[in-house]
Amino acid sequence: MSQKMSRKLVSDLKLLTKSLSTHCTSIQQSRSASSLAFKNAYINGQWVTAEDGRTFPVRNPANGDLISEVPDMQAKETQTAVNHAADAFKRWKNYTAIERSILLKKWHDIMAKNQEDLAQILTAENGKPLAEARGEIGYGISFVEWFAEEGKRIYGDVIPSAFKSKRLLHLKQPVGVCGIITPWNFPNAMILRKVGAALAAGCTVVVKPAEDTPLSALATCYFAEQVGIPAGVLNVVTCSHQHASEVGRVLCQSPKVSKISFTGSTATGKVLMKQSIDTMKRVSMELGGNAAFIVFNSADVDAAVAGAVASKYRGTGQTCISANRILVQEEVYDEFCEKLAKVVSQFVVGDGQEDGTTQGPLINEKAVDKVDSHVKDAVAKGGKVLIGGERHVKGPTFYSPTVIRDITEDMLVCSEETFGPLAPVIKFKTEEEAVLLANSTRFGLAGYFYSQDIRQIWRVAEDLEVGMVGINEGVISSTSIAFGGIKESGLGREGSKYGIDEYLNIKYACFGGM
Ligand code: ADP
Repeated sequence: MSQKMSRKLVSDLKLLTKSLSTHCTSIQQSRSASSLAFKNAYINGQWVTAEDGRTFPVRNPANGDLISEVPDMQAKETQTAVNHAADAFKRWKNYTAIERSILLKKWHDIMAKNQEDLAQILTAENGKPLAEARGEIGYGISFVEWFAEEGKRIYGDVIPSAFKSKRLLHLKQPVGVCGIITPWNFPNAMILRKVGAALAAGCTVVVKPAEDTPLSALATCYFAEQVGIPAGVLNVVTCSHQHASEVGRVLCQSPKVSKISFTGSTATGKVLMKQSIDTMKRVSMELGGNAAFIVFNSADVDAAVAGAVASKYRGTGQTCISANRILVQEEVYDEFCEKLAKVVSQFVVGDGQEDGTTQGPLINEKAVDKVDSHVKDAVAKGGKVLIGGERHVKGPTFYSPTVIRDITEDMLVCSEETFGPLAPVIKFKTEEEAVLLANSTRFGLAGYFYSQDIRQIWRVAEDLEVGMVGINEGVISSTSIAFGGIKESGLGREGSKYGIDEYLNIKYACFGGM
């Protein structure tokens, strides 16, 4: 480790220790606050290393500084975690819903109290501006509170019987051990949206967080331990990119795991589904998108620009529901392009930990290369850059927020998810053409449109082939809504009153001889 890195690590540890010892004084501590430096994975209530002692580095994407090193686990440790989760399931499923709810509420409350520390950890490993990180923590923990409530309302049915001698019931029961694999773009919320529902339903979990952002996952374990969530109920297995497929394979193929819940790319989702076939697992898949953002002639253009900015540039464009293609009708096209470029020109690009930053780095240099390849392809085929269009001087993980007009269907940006700060603007003439273009993809996660025409609003809302649609709105996520996609964007729904069903089996019980 270089001297600069080790100085930075020491100062990070001191900062975390100081702020956490302030926040944690009122709670029973089983470990010292400095354990929040997270050098260990969390299995069966123990903070453990990899069996061979191997670790991998976690770096700050803004500057490449080393934040921590965590265990690089493999199949063996994953199997151990699954075994413990299976043991814990025998006990956790027999807790009453209210007992589980009380623990989940306490878990929510302690994370709410420590929101700032969780946000700092998140920004350090993911790069998003602190204000966004704080928002993500608020959003993530809200699922724990939501499902703490929903767990108390898992009703079965008493079914009117067709036979005098029989009584018929539906019971709802937890599916069992769940393997949960999550991405780096929402290191806290993508875990809690799944784990909150799973634990409330009575399931136990083995989480494999993304290799870029394991610290946020471990932080949630720290607080789960503090409030007494029993050993084995929540396990986090950390591993490097090199071992992700091995760890994933154990989760998918183990007969002790009853369900896989994944958020990430469609390509990886398909691999996990194939691997889950032999044990006939339940699966939930929240996969990639290619969202169209449509602005019709009747739209309030200023509102549409604000919506496009919020949808496109949040998380530096690295969210699965980000607008990927912006379609604007011909009468308002020039005005929209000009206004969008003006707003984007005011962005402040920098380290997410610095005050005033609105756009952080991308997660790594590969992500920057992808944005750059989309920009170069668009320009070569006639796209006109209005702002940005190049790598940013801040460093190798930064890309200048970009707007390109005169985009055509043959450009890469129309068929691939850019996952970066590039807004490509396409001109269209008719509603029919816009809907056709919007649906001309195998993805179907989110879609957005701006219009003031009520009949058009109904038509387009019904015609877009997506799981979620924003109408005169660019920010659509919320705890209470069913989040998820259709087509190759996935299966199942998270959040809302439906999210808990993903973790429950329905058992039919027939009472004879009545
Ligand atoms: P991204 O391209 O956004 O990183 P991925 O789908 O590759 O999306 O990654 C999302 C999560 O899936 C991460 O936790 C990653 O480690 C994990 N992952 C990637 N490939 C595999 C695999 N073959 N098996 C299991 N997990 C995987």
